[in-house]
Amino acid sequence: MPDAPLDILALAAHRDDVEQTCGGTLLKMAQRGYRTGILDLTQGEMGTRGSAEDRAREAADAGRILGTSWRGALDIPDGRVENTWDNRLKVVRVLREQRPRVVILPYWKGRHPDHYTASVLGYEACFLAGLTKLDPDAMANDDSPQHTPQDAGATGNPHRPFKIIYATLYYDVRPTFVVDITEQFEARFEALMAYKTQFSDQEAGKGIFPARDEIRSRIEAMARFYGLLGGVTYAEPFLQKEVGLVDDLTLIPVKSI
Ligand SMILES: [Zn+2]
Repeated sequence: MPDAPLDILALAAHRDDVEQTCGGTLLKMAQRGYRTGILDLTQGEMGTRGSAEDRAREAADAGRILGTSWRGALDIPDGRVENTWDNRLKVVRVLREQRPRVVILPYWKGRHPDHYTASVLGYEACFLAGLTKLDPDAMANDDSPQHTPQDAGATGNPHRPFKIIYATLYYDVRPTFVVDITEQFEARFEALMAYKTQFSDQEAGKGIFPARDEIRSRIEAMARFYGLLGGVTYAEPFLQKEVGLVDDLTLIPVKSI
């Protein structure tokens, strides 16, 4: 029996990206009873500290803290996320297996090429996943896909998510909405701290990696800023390309004056 479809799937280039950009939102949704998942495109082998195995263990711990029902990582090379046909098909297989209603992608601009490439790659995979005649297993150029679907034929059934939203925390752009994560802020921080090889105070890579207190200050400042925009304590920012649809003017949140 395949698992039930995911309600929400967050996709990102690197393990710990989701924890930083939308981890509080995922936890909040899980606490409301939704099935949430995370797809990391790479396995973090280029990181200054720790091995890919360390990061896999840490990612599993972080996923547990965030209450995710599913977490997977593809074998796309870290530092070389490219929007190729084969990479799109790898994401298509996951989308067809997990069948999310909502997909959270990284914002499509940024400093790190893996981040903005993951955005476009994810969007195009969402489109392709809905094409009835597309068979990802028959159409891969790479004939050793290193991917075993949980149930035979799952990746053959088309699926397109209903909604795509973009997590914008890594880029200075005005969000179209924020999610109140005041209740989830501490757990989200602990999920990030589960990446012990990346964030604990240690010698290797000391110049690059700020200590825990410094990280906490930065994370808190960002969450407070976006919280202020929404009239709450802590929030995470998102952008949607579509306009908002309103049914009752008296229920629109966020005070104007
Ligand atoms: Zn990243």
